[in-house]
Amino acid sequence: MADEERQQNEQEAGQPSEEEMRAQLEEERSRVRKLEEELARVREELEELRIVYQNTVEHGTLIENELDQKMRVATVQSMTDPLTGIYNRLKFNDALNRRLGRRAGGSTVSSLIMFDIDRFKEVNDTMGHAAGDATLRHVARVLKATLREQDLAARVGGEEFALWLPSTGLATGREVAERVRAALTESRLYWAGAELSITGSLGLAGKPETTAQAANLYTAAVAALYSAQEAGRNRGEVAGPVDRPVDP
Ligand code: GH3
Ligand code: MG
Ligand code: MG
Repeated sequence: MADEERQQNEQEAGQPSEEEMRAQLEEERSRVRKLEEELARVREELEELRIVYQNTVEHGTLIENELDQKMRVATVQSMTDPLTGIYNRLKFNDALNRRLGRRAGGSTVSSLIMFDIDRFKEVNDTMGHAAGDATLRHVARVLKATLREQDLAARVGGEEFALWLPSTGLATGREVAERVRAALTESRLYWAGAELSITGSLGLAGKPETTAQAANLYTAAVAALYSAQEAGRNRGEVAGPVDRPVDP
């Protein structure tokens, strides 16, 4: 009998009372509530971060687009002569080196015309620098209008222009040079009520007839230009071969 009583007492001592169970449950509930609150806070923080991230990405894309646009403008500017709007020496050198580069090999035919306005200094001296600028712009317009779409006209010096004619043999190059010369003499430019008479001299060199080397092509065309100037200006001269011709 004493044993049974002890057993019952022990059982009662080991089992939580109803009150204790309620308290435990309440504790659990409160822990869950806290966890839920914590979760909600984390979710809010995540949402804030997501918005910040999205804004950063959008802003980054905007900056990227702006940079792209600026790069494009800068690239065009770096290749353009600001006075005439045609290509500058940098673009000309780039085109010449690329097209006559090793990879192009001896497979392409092309011509180069160096063009120089005759007695240009006189325009500046007699009519003023602004008249000189107008003359340069006029010449650039005539050159562009006379050449084909695939040709490249660049202002490479004060009153010097380079005309790069891809896929053009020397015979056609000669025709183009004459067309440019004639177009200029036939064009009309008025300044302060007076007509300015503008002529130019041209030197022509071709690949492969003159040379296969980029540097030689330029030098040969410049030498031919000097010959044209010495021969009296307002004319074109063709360069003789300067190295062993390469088969086209
Ligand atoms: P030639 O027939 O022998 O070529 O004589 P030229 O007078 O054409 O050549 P010269 O080299 O004696 O003079 C070129 C002049 O071009 C001198 C320079 O002041 C002028 N010049 C260079 N750049 C510009 C420019 O952007 N605008 C103006 N207006 N003049 C310029
Ligand atoms: Mg000159
Ligand atoms: Mg000149």
